[in-house]
This record gives sequence, C-alpha cells and structure tokens, in this order.
Amino acid sequence: MLHIKFSILDHDAYHQLDFLHLYCKITPLSFLTTFIYQESQMLNREKSQPIFDRALKVLVNGVSSNFRYLGEKETPVIVRGEGARIWDADGNEFIDYRLGWGPIIIGHADHRVNHAVIKHLENGTTFAATTELEVIVAEKLVKIVPGMEKLRFTNTGTEATMHALRTARGYTNKEKFIKFEGQYHGAHDYVLFSTASSPISAMGARTSPIPVQVGSGIPHKIRDYVYCLPFNDFEAIEKCVKDHHGEVAAMLVEPCLGNIAGIEPKSGYLSHLRSLCNEYNIVLIFDEVKTGFRLANGGAREAYGVIPDISTYAKSLGNGLPVAAFGGKTKVMDVIGGGSVTHAGTFGANGVSMAAANAVLDILSDSPVLKDLAERGKRLKTGLDNVLTDAGIPHQMCGHPNIQGFLITDKPVKEVRDLVYSNDVLYETIMQNMYNRGIWAESDPREPWFLCAAHTDEIIDDTLNKFQESVKTALQ
Ligand code: PMP
Repeated sequence: MLHIKFSILDHDAYHQLDFLHLYCKITPLSFLTTFIYQESQMLNREKSQPIFDRALKVLVNGVSSNFRYLGEKETPVIVRGEGARIWDADGNEFIDYRLGWGPIIIGHADHRVNHAVIKHLENGTTFAATTELEVIVAEKLVKIVPGMEKLRFTNTGTEATMHALRTARGYTNKEKFIKFEGQYHGAHDYVLFSTASSPISAMGARTSPIPVQVGSGIPHKIRDYVYCLPFNDFEAIEKCVKDHHGEVAAMLVEPCLGNIAGIEPKSGYLSHLRSLCNEYNIVLIFDEVKTGFRLANGGAREAYGVIPDISTYAKSLGNGLPVAAFGGKTKVMDVIGGGSVTHAGTFGANGVSMAAANAVLDILSDSPVLKDLAERGKRLKTGLDNVLTDAGIPHQMCGHPNIQGFLITDKPVKEVRDLVYSNDVLYETIMQNMYNRGIWAESDPREPWFLCAAHTDEIIDDTLNKFQESVKTALQ
C-alpha cells in the first residue's frame, strides 16, 4: 500500500513516475507514455490545512500509520462519518469506499453499535478477568464461523496473526512458516516480507523467490524464518512443502488478496493448501482480518468452503471499534492453555470491543446484510466494468463484490507479480478525479473498494456517474 501522490502530473512528475515504476515494477514503458490529464486539487482545504500543519509538528508525517500520509498539502483531515459518507474539516462530503480499510461493514456511526457501546461503558471496561459478555461473543463466533471451536480475543489484526503464528509453532514444534507474495498480515517483524508494496523486481524468479524485507528495523535473521511464494501457484507451494516440511510450522494465507484488489483464489487452490497441510503436519492459518464478517457471516471459510486450523479476525468484527480474535481447532488452540505458549494482552476482550462485536454479530445474524451487500457490490462491479470497457481501457475486474477492485491491464491477474503490467498512473488519476467529485476510493489499485450496508443503490449509481466523468476527464 505504498502511496505515491502527485497532484499535477507535469513533465518532472512524469520523470519521477518513470523512475519509480521502473524501480518498483519494471513497468513496460508503453504504459507510461499514455496521455493522462489530471485535474489539480479542487477541494477547499481552508480549515483542513491548518490542522494538518499542526499535525506535522507533533505526529510523524502528521499521521498515526505510515499508509495514511498522502503529502503535506494533500492528506485529508476527517471529522465525521455517518453511514457510507464521511466529511472533512472543511465540510467536503465523500462517499467512502475505503471504510477505514475495511472495518466499517454496517456503516459509520451505526446507532445500534454506538448504543450498545455507550450502554456498556456504564459498567466499566477493563478488569483483567473473564466477563459474561466475552463468553457471549465467543459463543456467537463459534456458532457463526464454520469449524470454529475455541478462540481468544485480541485488539488488532497484527496481534492476531502474531499470536496465531506462535500458536502454530508451539503446536508443531517447528519454526519456519510460508507466506504468499503480496499478502499483508500486519506490522510485526515475522510477516513484513514481500507485501503488496514490495518492489516486484526484488522478489526474484518464481522458481526461487526472495523474501523482500519491508523497511529497516527488522533483524536480518528473521528472514530465515519465512518462505515467500507466489499466490495461486499450485506447483510452487507443493514443491516448497515437499522440500521443507520438516521445518515449516504454518502456512499463513489471506484466502483472497485483501491487499491486492481482492484477487480471488483459483478454483481448488485453498483445498490444495488444506491437503498439503494435512499431509505434512503444517498448521493452516487463514488471515481473515479483511475477509472475516465481510465475504459471508462465516468469512472465507464459508465463502470458499475450506476450513483452516486457525483463522484471524479483526476489522469488520467491530464495525470500526478495535477488536480482534484468533481461533480454530481445539487441539491446536489448546496449546496456549496453561501458559505453555504465551498469549496475553491487557485490553483483550475489553468491554467496548465486546459490546461492539456483540452488536455487529447480532445485526449480521438477524438479517441478510452481507447477501444484500453482495447484490449492490455486483451492481457496482458491473457498472465500473462497463464504463472502463466503453472508454476502451483494458482492465481486469477482481474480487468478491463486498471487497473488490480492478487493475488497468490487459493481462489476467492472479497474484502480485501480475501487477507489473498495471497502469497505476492512469488508475491514480481517475481516483484523484473521483476524489475531487466527492467519491473516495483508494488511489492505489492494490487497496480494494470496500462496501458497507449503507451503500444504497442510489449511492452506487451516483458513484458510477462520477466514475464515468472521472474516466473521461483522465483521458481528455
Ligand atoms: N491482516 C490483514 C489481511 C490485513 O489487511 C491487516 C491490515 N490491513 C492486518 C492483518 C493487520 O491488522 P491491523 O492493522 O489491525 O493490525
């Protein structure tokens, strides 16, 4: 999710882009010569800019996560959200397809979730002890998620994948793990290799992939614990497992690429991973931080019909409040019982998180929220596809309707290496034009478009009209 922002594409910017693309992806030069017109920033920042100027003085880059920084004069300052809309400090309104990068599944500031949290606050939130509400939420998860037997709560996706990996290592008494190129599993050291923002040219040959460390500060030796493989490649995973199974504790996989336009697994791929893990005593971990409570109530397990040993959850479970969990088969999870494998956290299962999760799970169970959402997601996907086709832009539509994206390339996309052919400059230009028209989808094609229950047909049609204008303007 590397963001490269240029508000006006002038000649110099083209040179920078040229260099960046060559460095990052070895993009064919023909794409870079496409003529693209980018509108200059049109939105009023009279109030946002002074706030962001203050932010720059006290927060590193003015943000609380590296991925949020879009430039000194470009980074938005948001004050409010409601349903599918958000507003910045100047009152500019946006239809939101970023949704906090996934957590908002029902809608911003949903009054049912808010009410449950506010009510529970009266009871106090943190006791370092089991609460009944925590038991109730765990029971609901065991009921809703196929194959879920036992779990533990944490607060972020990062903590969930970190603990899941440790559990797998403790269970198998092995130390290494397999992850897939282009997948992101949070900000702890073990998983910061070959993510969606890593330069593809540094990943080496498909037959001998090189784990690419994401940034400094990670001890070099950590790299020895990870095998990074291309996603959706049946042979690559089989070979790696056959060669190294004696040392591989876990296979950690995003069942669909929640950090690359929602690219889906090939038919039979997840069951292939399942059989290899069964055969070679490897713990299969689905990272469902983005897919959980979004693809279906039972997440990717339900949507793709494959049951891993452990899954990790966060994002949609709290509709914007911080709550996460990891869990699965009792025989694997029980290894953390008795303190033999450490899982801990002061704020795990705190009252605010549990009240939010409890309300979200009830809303999802009481009505077909995600099925209805998928219908509207299809309307969006078909509409975007039609606009791009009519404009003569070669593209690939990707993902499940509830977490979808598209890439501007005529080559089929099944994994991160295929992004080398994607015209990110044109994509970013279209998204900048959309932003100027009050539609905020990420400017980086790797980050999917997220939908929530509050995206109505009218909102989607409005989006499609503005998309048509934005594409037209970009190609003028
Ligand atoms: N796993 C996946 C698939 C994610 O997309 C993310 C965050 N985008 C994480 C883990 C980390 O979650 P968090 O930011 O809550 O730590």
